[in-house]
Amino acid sequence: MKGSMVLGKIKGIQIELHVSWLIIFGLITFTMATSFFPENFPEMEGTMGWILGAIMAIFMLMSILLHELSHSIVSIQQGIEVKRITLFIFGGIAQMEREPDDPDKELKIALAGPLMSLLLFVIFSIALQVLSMLQVYEPWLVIFIYVRNINLILVLFNMVPAFPLDGGRVLRALLWKFKGNLREATRITSGMGNIFGFLLIFFGVYLVFLGNFINGIWFVFIGWFIKQLSESSYQNTLMTDMFTKIKVDTFMSKNVIAVEGHISVEALVENYFYKFKFTSFPVLSDGKVIGMVTVDSIKALQREEWDRTAIRNVVIHLKDDLMVQPQENVTQAIKKIFQNGVGRVLVMEGGELQGIVSRTDILNYIRIHSQLE
Ligand SMILES: [Zn+2]
Repeated sequence: MKGSMVLGKIKGIQIELHVSWLIIFGLITFTMATSFFPENFPEMEGTMGWILGAIMAIFMLMSILLHELSHSIVSIQQGIEVKRITLFIFGGIAQMEREPDDPDKELKIALAGPLMSLLLFVIFSIALQVLSMLQVYEPWLVIFIYVRNINLILVLFNMVPAFPLDGGRVLRALLWKFKGNLREATRITSGMGNIFGFLLIFFGVYLVFLGNFINGIWFVFIGWFIKQLSESSYQNTLMTDMFTKIKVDTFMSKNVIAVEGHISVEALVENYFYKFKFTSFPVLSDGKVIGMVTVDSIKALQREEWDRTAIRNVVIHLKDDLMVQPQENVTQAIKKIFQNGVGRVLVMEGGELQGIVSRTDILNYIRIHSQLE
């Protein structure tokens, strides 16, 4: 996520902290130090309040991190890579490389987070008992009570059966398993996600009218966030579902126009870019594809260099994210198209160019498909 700083790596997963989390950190620490502790423990020193408030905020962050780590580790065990976990204002997001391809995997991954929060709730409850028997300084108990409660809230909130919350994923996996239809299961659970989002927004507005301004706004934001998330996850599932059924070779454009690496940039612009109106072309050398040339790759050149520069000198060399195999799913091609910065991939088999898939092809297909359905 943009605006995040990297905290470190755990089991190969990059842990990032988004700047928006600092607001929460500040808010918790500030509230505890300036109102909660002074009101309840007037004898406490001011700095102690800030320290305890910060410790509490860090414990809460750790609780969220452990919840996400639990999802991630189970996900990796199920064969789905997790590149990073981002902690931000509304909690945490574990970025999975793809959606689970069967309901059992989804069920295990979805349950792993809430189970961890439940475990933390139990641990903090026991620790609280022990600490109060030992008669430790009371403000410490307060921290443990709050962190215990946060973990309970994490369990309850996440288990609401509204996709894409964990409970929604659990319900989706069960519907998917017993009805055998991922689209239908996603439609139902993301519909519930939408309703839950609306309920939170209404509740927030209600709180604002009651004069509880901060909490009210907070609920409105979370509700809005969940609504957005459930809609975009639904679209995403539909798209993935649609494209996993199609192989690259039935989707690609054949008869690709390629250019020879020895021609000049001048010739490329005149005889290819303006003529065919494509923004990039595969480049050949001795009949073999060596890479691609795009409008972007010649932008850096001065106009007067065009006629003395051969395009093999500005070529983007062939690498994994520029190529797909004809037998792969179109989803593989889409992933690369949106990541490689060229907006298209070459379909290659045994070193031979078979076809091309572009961003425009994908978007047009979606447009046609959505009009016919
Ligand atoms: Zn979760």
